[in-house]
Amino acid sequence: MSVVQRKAMLKSEGFFPHKKNAKGTTIIYSRKHPTAKSVRVVIDSGIDSTTNKVVGKLGIKLCYVNRSKSWREISSQVFTTNTGLVKLIKAQEAAEKFVKSCKHCKAKKFTAKTGNVVCANACWTTWSGSKNATTNKTTKKVTQKTTRKKNATNANSPTTGQGQKGKVVKKAAKSSQKKSASNPKQSTAKRQRTYPLNKRVARSVNKKPQKKLQADILPGDLVTVEEILGDKVRENFTGKVLGIVQSIGMDSVKVTWTANTSGIEEYLLPQWRCYHISETVVDYRFKVLSRKVEYVIDS
Ligand SMILES: [Zn+2]
Repeated sequence: MSVVQRKAMLKSEGFFPHKKNAKGTTIIYSRKHPTAKSVRVVIDSGIDSTTNKVVGKLGIKLCYVNRSKSWREISSQVFTTNTGLVKLIKAQEAAEKFVKSCKHCKAKKFTAKTGNVVCANACWTTWSGSKNATTNKTTKKVTQKTTRKKNATNANSPTTGQGQKGKVVKKAAKSSQKKSASNPKQSTAKRQRTYPLNKRVARSVNKKPQKKLQADILPGDLVTVEEILGDKVRENFTGKVLGIVQSIGMDSVKVTWTANTSGIEEYLLPQWRCYHISETVVDYRFKVLSRKVEYVIDS
């Protein structure tokens, strides 16, 4: 397709060219996100600004314009040819929902050069120094104190029976666990959840022939991920993982993942439209979001 056609498509999708590209020689286009405040959909046109020739694919990403008007990339860039442009713009726009926001100033979070996911406004730099330095310590102390107080009050209350007391203690333990980041028990549990493929759930070996399930996944489908064991879905990652199917091989599925806040490593995400049911190994499968697709037994 010609440069003229590519430019016309971008224009018809509401995009306007920037005067400058700080990182390269191609023409950058952008426009507002249809719903999210301060978010822009940014497209690297792949058209060289000096030669006016197509030198690459179209690259689409989302940027958050922070308080000091700096643009922060809040989604990773995904690439497409002219034919996939409209769909991929939609997929990227949908990915905005999955970008975490700062709980202090509501700005979007992005991955800084350090690799840390931080507030796009860097609002922590405006907090008072003394408050910042003591926050962690005091939170912990306060938690312990209030926990003890709660138990004491409940034990003294005339209506508190044995059973209820137990309940309260449990609740208190739970809340302090939530608040303290250094709890060793909690971090172990999290690690197990993140790498469930390493985990053998049952000891017995299943000798029955394994059932094979298949879903009719197609290019352009918006997908997320489900964690499965046997024929049960253990967890649905809608809202945490989002991808768009680029192409289908024999049974392989090529996906561009536009969002993943699940903690599942990218190499563990599904790559096939079929799988064998296993009673012993936790696995991940695709779940199509953009239309109704069921898994059926494949013989
Ligand atoms: Zn903030």
